[in-house]
Amino acid sequence: MTLPKPSFLKRLTKNINTSKSLRWQYTLKAVGDRLLPGACLLCGLCAAHDIDLCAACEQSLPRLGPHCDICAQPLTRSATCGRCLSKKPSFNTVKAPLLYQYPVDLLLQRFKFKGQLAAGKVLSQLLAKYLKTQIVNGHYTLPDLLIPVPLHWKKRFARGFNQSEEIARELSQQLNIKYCRHTIKRTLNTPAQHHLSRAERQHIPHQTFAPGPASKLLAGANIALVDDVLTTGSTAQALSQRLLKEGAISVEIWLLARTPLDN
Ligand SMILES: [Zn+2]
Ligand SMILES: [Zn+2]
Repeated sequence: MTLPKPSFLKRLTKNINTSKSLRWQYTLKAVGDRLLPGACLLCGLCAAHDIDLCAACEQSLPRLGPHCDICAQPLTRSATCGRCLSKKPSFNTVKAPLLYQYPVDLLLQRFKFKGQLAAGKVLSQLLAKYLKTQIVNGHYTLPDLLIPVPLHWKKRFARGFNQSEEIARELSQQLNIKYCRHTIKRTLNTPAQHHLSRAERQHIPHQTFAPGPASKLLAGANIALVDDVLTTGSTAQALSQRLLKEGAISVEIWLLARTPLDN
């Protein structure tokens, strides 16, 4: 029998401890916030009671204006963009309240790369608020099931969490929709998107995703696939195709923020 190398064990312990400690910090903060309003994550002043942002900072966030009704690409007026007209994506629509610009990019980076779960929670709450407004205005019906975009297990292990799962969990509570992270898994560990050229990002090998142990939940379901941002849209496209192949009726994409396609 081969014993694991000491360096591997050291990394394993460090990751488990990091993940636990992040969650503990987050739980303690949540308890504290119930008793006293927290500080705004952007300016440090007193935050509103239901979200860790002050009213001024929340109002000044860059909102997604007119956009493509399918891929949410920012446009000068609401319409279907040329790209979606020439080749309709396999997902029905993209919902995103914010633009990936300062200070949204700052909050997202703190969440994703520094493990500041409170920043992820704030952005998820803003997405939930946006969807609730659309329901009230009669423009929208919620899907049946939330699925976070899966990370390869090695990447999830190295980061200590999957940002899409954190977002989906929060949305599930806020909107009362079922959430499951085991319907689909990532079987290929591709390099981080920001390390790739645009052409490389657009190529997603078809064996990248495979059905997970709970894939039966997909049959007959209207699904919202949850992610932090959308860049080329190729991951969303590949995953939607896979979910439809597994029996989903429809797929839409929910994002914290939208980047222009050419970024
Ligand atoms: Zn503020
Ligand atoms: Zn479009």
